[in-house]
Amino acid sequence: MEYPLVRACIDLDAIQKNIQNLKQITDKKSKFMAVVKADGYGHGAVKVAQKALQSGADWLGIARLNEAVELRKAGIEALLLVFGYIHPAQAGMINDMNLVTTVYGLKMAKALSSKAKLLNKPIKVHLKIDTGMGRVGMVIEKNLSDKTARKQVLKKIEEIVKLPGIDLKGLYTHFAAADCKDRRYTDLQIELFASLLEDLKKKGIELSTCHAANSAGIIEFPGSHFDMVRAGISIYGLYPSGEVDQSKVKLTPAMTLKSIVTAVREVPKGFCVSYGMTHKTRKKTKLASVPVGYADGFSRGFSSNGTLLVKGHRAPVVGRICMDQTMIDVGDIPDVTPGDEVVLIGSQGDEILGADELANRINTINYEIVSALTPRVKRIYSDSGSG
Ligand SMILES: *Cc1c(COP(=O)(O)O)cnc(C)c1O
Repeated sequence: MEYPLVRACIDLDAIQKNIQNLKQITDKKSKFMAVVKADGYGHGAVKVAQKALQSGADWLGIARLNEAVELRKAGIEALLLVFGYIHPAQAGMINDMNLVTTVYGLKMAKALSSKAKLLNKPIKVHLKIDTGMGRVGMVIEKNLSDKTARKQVLKKIEEIVKLPGIDLKGLYTHFAAADCKDRRYTDLQIELFASLLEDLKKKGIELSTCHAANSAGIIEFPGSHFDMVRAGISIYGLYPSGEVDQSKVKLTPAMTLKSIVTAVREVPKGFCVSYGMTHKTRKKTKLASVPVGYADGFSRGFSSNGTLLVKGHRAPVVGRICMDQTMIDVGDIPDVTPGDEVVLIGSQGDEILGADELANRINTINYEIVSALTPRVKRIYSDSGSG
């Protein structure tokens, strides 16, 4: 019998509710993309993708080609956009899997075209526009008032449109700070993107799917929804940051991460715990071992810096997190015994331990907490089954 020591319990109904709520605040004319990269932010890409499509998502977004392979193998035929870099040699594969891929500029488009023109049908591509993220894409930042620079960008896009073997279907950009209180940078990014689309329209180039908004854009910038929105973290029930107005959309976290107590020992005062003996008990107490570690994606940063829930109480992590085990002090919690459920993310009794709290403790963001979970964590799904 399978008895997984660490389980990520995924509530697919919560994902459905989150998508429905997000769609409520999305422009009626905009399509909805569910972003399921990085194994669905650790929640399991295939199950999340299936549920998202049932819940009204029109597109799926992923970062890597191998993520597309997994979805297609599972029989998912939906529109799929790959955000990440693809090699021209992969043109055949892209075509076979019927993917839409991203080109970062004219050079990459030409390279892809040279391979794609040999195929029986063109590859659909979206062009990435860098309006200020500073990562990839055709740069148009600061060129708003510079007429020659603008003309050059337009000329390059016109050239891409004419390339054989590829079919430019959309443009998109990505926000650097849509989750920040200060709205000015995002307003500027939106303005740059919108004016580029205007210019193209004047030239008679109208692309069907132009998009910009991530979760924070959906929630905070209704003017950024264009033809489609790309919702990632929010479909999993987490807010992009503490600065986003949570009253605008209700989200329910979909993941509960659980383990069990495997050993409970009474130990004396001055007892050393785990590698490096960084923790010494200050009094006679009880320690419980939990079979979760950094190889599960439970960061070593939680060493003597976190709490887990057991019997509805918070128990402090003591000593270093190991690869496969973590120790907690349960001296103040009555009757802890091997087999008791331990919650690492989620709620137990009246206590709630959110991914945001964990992220704050180790100076990161909720995105990293959930997407860091490794394959050896068993994903278990609950779904009431209503489409
Ligand atoms: C990851 C990603 C998203 C989703 O962002 P969230 O903040 O999780 O909503 C959208 N667009 C692109 C290009 C991405 O890489």
